Amino acid sequence: MLRTPLQARLCFTYRCNLRCPFCYERFARTSGSGKELPLSSWLSLLEELRSLGVFSVALIGGEPLCHPYMKPLLEDLTDGPMRFGLYTNGTLLDDTWVELLQATHRCSHVTISLDGFEDYHDGIRGSGMFRRTLAGIERLVSVGIPVKIAGVVSHDNYRTIPEFARFLETLPICEYKFSLRGDAAYGEDELCGELNLEEKVEVTVHGLRF
Ligand code: SF4
Repeated sequence: MLRTPLQARLCFTYRCNLRCPFCYERFARTSGSGKELPLSSWLSLLEELRSLGVFSVALIGGEPLCHPYMKPLLEDLTDGPMRFGLYTNGTLLDDTWVELLQATHRCSHVTISLDGFEDYHDGIRGSGMFRRTLAGIERLVSVGIPVKIAGVVSHDNYRTIPEFARFLETLPICEYKFSLRGDAAYGEDELCGELNLEEKVEVTVHGLRF
């Protein structure tokens, strides 16, 4: 029997360069409840996870690449026994970040948010973000870092998901997955709102017809 978890998920920041309408981190950012731990606490935690034999950590935000701790955390992980995955919106993945990730020799994959075609994605995440994200994917792939895509299925994009999935299959990524938008916290008439009951039945019973 395993005595320690294989993986730990470290949500070390609520900061983000984007303002997506369905972002659950918005509550923490705006309510002040999202206080962040100091860097020393994260480094101690990584040391403890290593001593426990944890194989890998997931670096999650918010947007991890927004945070000044990201570089020291990468330095700490470099050439160590643990591998890590990064969860990012992909818009900040310039050459410098990609080189830093590659230089760790411990990045198992990067999971990037992509919710649909350009108009839809940019409507949620901001003008030009779709192309910036695709450019980030290309940079990662060019240095051999595996890329996974994660998207959110909403009232406004669920019918386009099959076609979008076919588009994703033309990209040099290793995996894609979609999750249903899970709350109606910002009102049902807002862009990318939660699926209504009939739509959920259509998606879950009949599938997305890939
Ligand atoms: S990219 Fe992620 S963390 Fe940033 S606003 Fe959007 S959902 Fe929230």
